[in-house]
Amino acid sequence: MARCEQGYLCDVCGEDVEAITESDLYLRYVLGEVSPLALPTMRERHIRCNPATAQYIVDEAFAPVRCQGMFAKDLLDPEQVKEQESKITRAWRRLQEIPRLGIAIPDYPLPEVLAAWRALNDR
Ligand SMILES: [Zn+2]
Repeated sequence: MARCEQGYLCDVCGEDVEAITESDLYLRYVLGEVSPLALPTMRERHIRCNPATAQYIVDEAFAPVRCQGMFAKDLLDPEQVKEQESKITRAWRRLQEIPRLGIAIPDYPLPEVLAAWRALNDR
């Protein structure tokens, strides 16, 4: 395949985003922050290249990322940080499983995200 047809270069470091398991875009899709319609139009990024989100991934398999500046979690409310850590870590673990699960893109998001989207559509 030609280079341009791959087209998933990281918006931050310019390197290939080779696998879905390292994609910040898909992580945010699993979290429900990116809608299915917006997915094909958004820029790709490595999870590690977006420290504002990556700092909340707490897992032995993920080398911790520190975020500097105003979004650093050390500066935020500990309760809020705990909530974010639990949600984003869960989304990251799901993302790591997706290649093995053999599911379609519409089924990637966390169960509560899918439920919320369904509720919106049923209205
Ligand atoms: Zn990158």
